[in-house]
Amino acid sequence: MRITKAETFVLHVPITPPITDAINAATHWGLAGIRIYTDEGYVGYGYTGTCAEGDDMIVDTIEKYYVPLLIGKDPFMVRALWDEMRYGKMHWIGRAGITHMALAAVDIALWDIMAKASNKPLWQYLGGAKSQGIKAYNTNGGWLNWSKERLLQDVAAIVEQGFTGVKIKVGKPDPREDYDRCKAVRQEIGDDVIFMIDVNQQWSLNTAMTWGKKLEEFDLFWLEEPLNPDDILGHKKLADELNVPIALGEHVYHKYAFRDYIHYGAVEYCQVDVTRVGGITEWLQVAGLAAAYDVQICPHVGDMGQIHQHLVAATQNATMLEYIPWIRHIFVEPATVRNGYYALPEMPGASTEIIPEQFQKYRVR
Ligand SMILES: [Mg+2]
Repeated sequence: MRITKAETFVLHVPITPPITDAINAATHWGLAGIRIYTDEGYVGYGYTGTCAEGDDMIVDTIEKYYVPLLIGKDPFMVRALWDEMRYGKMHWIGRAGITHMALAAVDIALWDIMAKASNKPLWQYLGGAKSQGIKAYNTNGGWLNWSKERLLQDVAAIVEQGFTGVKIKVGKPDPREDYDRCKAVRQEIGDDVIFMIDVNQQWSLNTAMTWGKKLEEFDLFWLEEPLNPDDILGHKKLADELNVPIALGEHVYHKYAFRDYIHYGAVEYCQVDVTRVGGITEWLQVAGLAAAYDVQICPHVGDMGQIHQHLVAATQNATMLEYIPWIRHIFVEPATVRNGYYALPEMPGASTEIIPEQFQKYRVR
């Protein structure tokens, strides 16, 4: 099989109502991506996810530096193509951020083609380990700009829908407000629901030591991204002091940083995101690395779960998967949760194919 053509796209899908966490505000979810065509008729879709900022730089990178390496090549040579892209002309200025998100989009499209050509959903193509579905936890009721009333209404509704895990954002200017919101949420959802909080890098080490300890009383399943994601040493110190597990990984761009986080015991739940770590090729390596340390994988859904549902289903050391339903309506086979579990996809491919009308509706480039 040969790649004959590739074209990039940017979609902006509205988020209603707009949301904030401690460092981000978003009105749209951005998909910066690529469609790769082959001489056997298979078309692969891959994308990365953004807060609808910087997408143009991602697709510029794909068009100028990655597409020329793809034309005429066999998509089944994905690991060789990954190396060519990763260690090619962009290596001098890349290795994380924009270039790795661009690489992720291309890599995902290649795996989509391979699974389609093998007539299997990606999770089966990868040797699926969980045919019974994947436990989902819901993040979409806990935004930082929600009033306390709305927060409690939303987490109650999520539990009512059958979810057994909820996550809320913290990182208010006054941590006493975080404490008050966490206390109210734990009372609302009861003791049997898994409860996680996400700081989105907002705290200093001192704040994290102090307030992480205070918040332990709410039986947190994990404390997410308490510090700057480049501060492995700070997370190690925190992990040594707290009795709540540390989760992070959505801003970690390659396996070397994950190796150090895991090796030094600075993370317990590894939230490696396929749309940021350079795609499925690198994601699988991080998952294997974590397995050797008995560290759990629980991805951040920069893809909103479409691709990760396949990867988690095929990974023994993956526990559950985040759920945020902002973009599911644009996909031919949307990620679907029933009674708190992802129902695994049945169509061949990586569940990245977009409905043509939705593609046109939200396309901005
Ligand atoms: Mg997070």
